[in-house]
Amino acid sequence: MKAMVLKEISATEKEPLEMEDLPKPAPGPKEVLVKVSACGVCHTELDEIEGRIQPKLPIVLGHEVVGRVEGFGSGATKFNVGDRVGIAWIHSACGTCHFCRGGNENLCLEFKGTGCHANGGYAQYTVVSEDFAFPIPERFSDSEAAPLLCAGAIGYRDLVLSGVKKDQILGLFGFGASAHIVIQVAKHWGCEVFVFTRSQEHRTLAKRLGASWTGVPDDQPPRKLHCAIDFTPVGETVPRALRVLEKGGRLVLAVIRKRDPIPPLDYAEHLWDEREIKSVANITRKDLQDFLPLAAEIPIIPEVQDFPLEEANKALVLLKQGKIQGAGVLRMAH
Ligand SMILES: [Zn+2]
Ligand SMILES: [Zn+2]
Repeated sequence: MKAMVLKEISATEKEPLEMEDLPKPAPGPKEVLVKVSACGVCHTELDEIEGRIQPKLPIVLGHEVVGRVEGFGSGATKFNVGDRVGIAWIHSACGTCHFCRGGNENLCLEFKGTGCHANGGYAQYTVVSEDFAFPIPERFSDSEAAPLLCAGAIGYRDLVLSGVKKDQILGLFGFGASAHIVIQVAKHWGCEVFVFTRSQEHRTLAKRLGASWTGVPDDQPPRKLHCAIDFTPVGETVPRALRVLEKGGRLVLAVIRKRDPIPPLDYAEHLWDEREIKSVANITRKDLQDFLPLAAEIPIIPEVQDFPLEEANKALVLLKQGKIQGAGVLRMAH
């Protein structure tokens, strides 16, 4: 099978993924073999390529995988051949540690990430435990479904953890793939949304998707934010967001790693009055099970830009430059 493989940590601009011919993977016990049709590109891949999070090397990246079940390992019974499934960042969790038992399998001591600790979807085929494959609602095309699996589902987790309620003001810092899905869920819940981004194109998209105010990150919004989500890799966004956060408000940090340090915070200006900061790590199966049907019901139809698998490097560079409108998705030819 064709796969785009990362062999060493590198700058994304050096286009380090190499097209290789790998053996088609064989599904192990309780695993399914998935013929991949689409795989989203995600900021987490930039973190892996550039070494801010450490993948097992060599690795096939990609954790927004959509395809059809083509084969089974022993004891796999949940799906039929031809079923359309998605695979997300959570590739496996132990099921027995205190985090797993408490419903926080995203924090599992043995958490494994798709396309990080196990080969992912930048390839024609992949394998996954049937317990970590999710049915894709009919109404989405393969490309549309891909960003729902990470940008969408993690955005949903960010939104839930922000604690935002109906009629409250939610601030979004950065307006990429995840934020443009989050705004649609937040509007569905009856929240008001303010969007802060440097990109004029992204501000226009935000307005179209229902933002009642948009500006650049340093702008003063007309009212303070009850909750905010920071999708940017920029450390400085943290004090900027805290400065416009209402008393008792919570700022959720959605990225796995910041590209640069968070500047020193001033306790009185940024944190006093019960302001909170919370990071979001990984994702649970429940997030996906809750979000995918909700996305179909609203419905959320992500904006996508397709690239052939061979152009994975180009898609990643454009992602890093913030030049993809909505979500980038790799398409596999078979
Ligand atoms: Zn992702
Ligand atoms: Zn566990």
